This record gives sequence, C-alpha cells and structure tokens, in this order.
Amino acid sequence: MANRDVFFVSSGTFSAPAFAVGRPGFSSTFLSNTVGVIVRSDDSIVLVDAGLSEATCANPGRSVGHLRARFLGIRASAEDCVAAQLERLGYRREAVTAIVATHLHFDHVNGVRDFPNAELIVSKEELDAFSWRRTDFGYDKRDLKLEQRIVPVELEDAPRDGFARSLDLFEDDSVHLLDTQGHTPGSVAVSMATIGAHFIHVGDAVYNVKELNLRDATPISRFIRWNTDKHRACTDVLRAAAKTTTLVPSHDADTFARLPKGPASSSAAPRAPASRAP
Ligand SMILES: [Zn+2]
Repeated sequence: MANRDVFFVSSGTFSAPAFAVGRPGFSSTFLSNTVGVIVRSDDSIVLVDAGLSEATCANPGRSVGHLRARFLGIRASAEDCVAAQLERLGYRREAVTAIVATHLHFDHVNGVRDFPNAELIVSKEELDAFSWRRTDFGYDKRDLKLEQRIVPVELEDAPRDGFARSLDLFEDDSVHLLDTQGHTPGSVAVSMATIGAHFIHVGDAVYNVKELNLRDATPISRFIRWNTDKHRACTDVLRAAAKTTTLVPSHDADTFARLPKGPASSSAAPRAPASRAP
C-alpha cells in the first residue's frame, strides 16, 4: 500500500505581530494552521496533525479560553475545521484512521476528537512531556482523554534525509517520522511521498521557511522552544533538507498558499459525496 494523494488544509488562521515571525513592523500578520492529508491506496486517510476541533472553530473563546483565543488571534468558524473541509472534498471523517501528531500543542491536536475512527500516533517523548511538563502553556490536558486511541512510538537510530532518527510508519517507505526535537521534547516532522511529490510537514520546528535564513530563530520560536541547542541543531538539519524537498511549517501562510489543497486529479477523489455517505 502506498499514498495515493497528499494535500493540505488549514484549520482557521491565527494572527501575530509581524516582528514575532521575523518580519519588520508591529502590524498583524496571518498564520496558517496547516494539516497534511494523506489518502492511502485503500481509501483510508492519515492526517498530519488535526488542527482545531469543530467546536473550537465554532467558538474559539469558549473552547480554549477567551484570553488564549484572543492572544493567539484565532479566526475560525465551524466550517474551517479539518473534518468539515474533508467532507466538502467528498471524504468521510470516519475514513481517517490515523493522525500523526508533530507534537501535542493544542492547536495541532485539538481536532483529534472529530475523528471517531482515528488513532493518535505520537512520539513517546512527546507523550511523556505532555503528561509531566506543567510549564508549557501549549499543552491542554483536555485534548487527550481517550487513552485507548493513543499509540506512542519510538524513533529508531536510523538516519534519514539528514535527520538523526526516523521511523518508517507503514513499512512501505511512504510515510516517515523524523526527529525534530527542540520546539518540544518529542517533536517530529512527517515525510510523505506520493507520485511526483514529496513534502516534509515540520510542525512548529520553524514557524516559516524564511526562519531558516535568519542568524537565530524568530522571536516566537525563541519564546516557545523547549531546548535552544536542540532547536538550533534541528534548524540546521531543516536548512539542508529544504534544498531538496518542500518543507511545510504549520503556521507558514506563504508556504500554505503554494501547496495542493485537494486531490491531484478527479480520478483520485472518492466517488461518493460525504452527504450521501452513511
Ligand atoms: Zn502550533
């Protein structure tokens, strides 16, 4: 089995002062919340992150707290959640069988609850951090309640594409987890290949690809990162990888604008529209 299609959606947007993401000035700039969609050859779907849930998109303040929603400048409505976007493209949310978390900050895994058949694949180091680190305001304990759906994985000492550790998720060489420790203790990137295209979703390892050319990280990266040395080492690896593949940072709206937003061809799309699915 392999990947039939890879495309991307954004679950709402965030806003941040331009200087925070390495641009001049204090005016607001929009950030994407980019989720990878991998359609497998058996019609199952694997997501890279899940974005914000339907309930959060409908009312960010009530779901994640008014202060946090305002601080992050969350702009979303119910139809911006990943499940609703997939349904508009003709896919059923029940077809999502796995969600790979780049890390467990709430803007990446809050939407897991919208996918009743999905297991959440996360690095063991990240799951441990989620359980024990109390100083990281990005983690929201309410996001992971259904423990039977969580599959912790350990990356292997198998260098790949310049990354020190990796894991072949399906053992068919089509989806790999790559070590991007630094932003959080167990951050991973996800490499996904399909016919004629290859992407690495890097989560928040960098906030935009321009960050790769800065002397140090953007202010927002520096503010949030868990480990400075590991984050810098990871940035060096990403800088090299960017020469040969498309890196997809979660919140890079410029990169998101250039990504495929749906299946590559109509023949690749599922036949039954979501409204008629059981
Ligand atoms: Zn994030």
